[in-house]
Amino acid sequence: MNNKLKDEILELLWSMREKGLKSYADLISGINDSGASDALLKMEKAGLVAISDNEVQLAEKGEARARDLTRRHRLAERLFHDVLEVGMQESEETACEVEHFLSPSVTESVCSFLGHPPTCPHGKPIPRGECCSRYKKDMKPLVMKLKELDIGSKGRIVFIAPSENSRLERLASMGILPGSIIRLKQKRPSFVLEIDETTLAIDSLIAEEIYVKEKK
Ligand SMILES: [Zn+2]
Ligand SMILES: [Zn+2]
Repeated sequence: MNNKLKDEILELLWSMREKGLKSYADLISGINDSGASDALLKMEKAGLVAISDNEVQLAEKGEARARDLTRRHRLAERLFHDVLEVGMQESEETACEVEHFLSPSVTESVCSFLGHPPTCPHGKPIPRGECCSRYKKDMKPLVMKLKELDIGSKGRIVFIAPSENSRLERLASMGILPGSIIRLKQKRPSFVLEIDETTLAIDSLIAEEIYVKEKK
């Protein structure tokens, strides 16, 4: 079986499920490859998907693979888009390539390096890995949550992963956006930052959602 096509199908099934979709026809049109229906039959035999009543869903074996692929894809998007500052289109294309070959240990390193981001640049959730729960303090990540920065330190905002998308605009209007250089002045009772000689106070819940790279 064409492995790349198989992976594409699994990944699409994962993101369709996030939107509550499972129609066979939607899957076929989303994949847009003449071999898709043949591949699906083989995948059903292999225990990767379950097909019934014009619906397709992930079966147990497919579930684990789809989860890994999605995790690698979305982590790679964060890496290329936010850290290496590659454009969105190119980040997306590169993510589609690397998701097939990142090994489990490299994936963990990338995740730790990025401070275990909860979402991709499109705001979609990144499936959690083992590294995300056992937070290794001995490994200094490149990107960390704002709250982990020492008081008095400077950092560059790398990305913001807000629980509400409406928040991004409000933060941006205050100058809190990727690329901004901040200095952390205080953590309690609220977070106080300095950006371009302006002092701002933000709620600690919002500080949880801002990821920075320390500037020495
Ligand atoms: Zn994405
Ligand atoms: Zn992690």
